[in-house]
This record gives sequence, C-alpha cells and structure tokens, in this order.
Amino acid sequence: MEILTDLHTHTTATPHAYSTVTENAFVAKQKGIEAIAMTNHYGVGDAPHIWHFVNIGVLPKEIHGVRVLKGAEVNILDLDGTIDMPEEVMAKLDIVIASIHRPVHQDFDGKDHTEAYMNVVENPYIDIIGHSGSPDWKYDYEKVIKRAGELGKMIEINANTFKIRKANIPNCREIALTCKRLGTSICVNSDAHYCDMVGKIDLPTKMLCEIEFPEELIANRNLEALKKFMAPRKNL
Ligand SMILES: [Zn+2]
Ligand SMILES: [Zn+2]
Repeated sequence: MEILTDLHTHTTATPHAYSTVTENAFVAKQKGIEAIAMTNHYGVGDAPHIWHFVNIGVLPKEIHGVRVLKGAEVNILDLDGTIDMPEEVMAKLDIVIASIHRPVHQDFDGKDHTEAYMNVVENPYIDIIGHSGSPDWKYDYEKVIKRAGELGKMIEINANTFKIRKANIPNCREIALTCKRLGTSICVNSDAHYCDMVGKIDLPTKMLCEIEFPEELIANRNLEALKKFMAPRKNL
C-alpha cells in the first residue's frame, strides 16, 4: 500500500511543531511524496495568528518539487459542530481539517457527538474529519460516515494517533471498517510535528492492510487521485 500525499502536517508556525514548510517539503521529496498539505492549528491554544492563513497565498505551489497545499486544522468547538475559523478564511484554503482537541473541549467529554460531526460533515468549508477515534467524543460512525461519503468528504486515519492516542486505535479500526463497508473515502496522514515524521504512516497502513482496506477508497493515495476526488468541490 503506497500513499504519496500527506494532508496533515504542522510547521513552526504552530509553536509546538519544530520544522519549517521548506524542511517538511525537503523530507517529502526525499521520501518520494508528491504533495503535502501544511495544516497548522487555528484558534484557541497554541496556534498562529489568523494572518498566517490570510497570507498563505504568498507560498509557491511547489517547494523542492513537492506540491504544497495550503490548509488549516480548525477546531470543532461544541456539540453543534461550530468551527472556530471564519468562513471567508477557510474558503481560500486548499484543505481544511476539522478536529476536536482536548484543551478546547474539556467540558463535554463522554457526550454523544453525532450531531456535532454531522454538522461538520455538512459544512461546505470542511474537507476532512480529523482524528475522530477518541472514546471521549464518540459518534454514530454509520450515520456520519455515510453522509461524509455522499458529500465527498474524507475521514482521516491519523498516524499520530497510533503513537500518542493509543486508546483510540480500536475506534480507528472500526471507523476504517465502516468506511470500507459504506464506500466512504479516507485519507491517511502523518500529523507530523517534525519534518522526519512527514509521510510516516506505517502503523495505520499496517492496520489498513490487515482489514484489506480497498486502495481506491484512499483519496490521498497520490496527487492525481486526490485532485480527482476533490474536483466536484475544489480545484487543487
Ligand atoms: Zn489535531
Ligand atoms: Zn494536527
């Protein structure tokens, strides 16, 4: 199983990440990766100012011969699925990942998040549901994943989860199995916070091989496939 794009990487613009976009692209090139998305955090917590995203167009399309997609990892703020980044800023980005982060959400652990994720999936500015396997914010996988498939959204399988959120791994497997059964596309990303981590997805890939996940449902398996997948909603 070969996956040639990485749609979730952080740079030093996020203070708890440690490489520049140029370093990330350099490592991507060495590993034969065709495209990376720079998706720094937004909003409450350890994140860059909104001008980072407003000004993101100054970056070239390619760095070290690697396509650099301009993105963000935004926060799902509440049980209604409210997103913190202004819509007019999201509208200009190539890739927007919506995730729940504990420091922003400590008040609703354990509650059902089906409605939150349904509204996120319906949000036209969101492309990817990020690392959603936590037992603390479970949702009706069947319902949300089915709708995500209908709307051409991707469900992320996040490599970082396999290292730092191990309690979520059984849910990630269940999410992947649900995607397989319903024909919903996933993307497999590193969530790199240091350049060496770019493209490092061996643990989720191993899980996907075990469950015989169909390669055609991995929307980011290469740049061409990704462009085709996104085409109904965005021109990459
Ligand atoms: Zn995250
Ligand atoms: Zn991240």
